[in-house]
Amino acid sequence: MSSAGIADTSDPPSAIYTGSCHCGSFTYTVQQSPPLDHPSCEVKECNCSMCARNGYLFITPAEKNVKFTNGEKDEFKKYTFGKHIFAHYFCGTCGVSCMAQSLDPNLWADIVAVNVRTLQDVDLKSLNVKLADGKRL
Ligand SMILES: [Zn+2]
Repeated sequence: MSSAGIADTSDPPSAIYTGSCHCGSFTYTVQQSPPLDHPSCEVKECNCSMCARNGYLFITPAEKNVKFTNGEKDEFKKYTFGKHIFAHYFCGTCGVSCMAQSLDPNLWADIVAVNVRTLQDVDLKSLNVKLADGKRL
């Protein structure tokens, strides 16, 4: 059961979720297709050293489908490691890891990995979680 409404009637179906860090410095909406409770929606659990520590569960909407209602992406603290391909964005006040993004324009350009744990009204136990082998990257 989700109150993340504004499910539109277009095909494929999508839903808009509201998310934030803990302190509210960053709030955003994410349009996700298919919706998180749709059987074909996969949520990724990454095994890289960063995501393993953060417990990240992520979806990868197009960047245009992630809209900030408070704060801006550039205002996140940014952390990179290893090959420095991915920027991990977290709130400098409360420390919650909200998003990650490739810094390589040739790799997953225009996509943002959003931490599903920061979204409201998501039943984490019901998600279709698949392993992402980020350790390799
Ligand atoms: Zn915060």
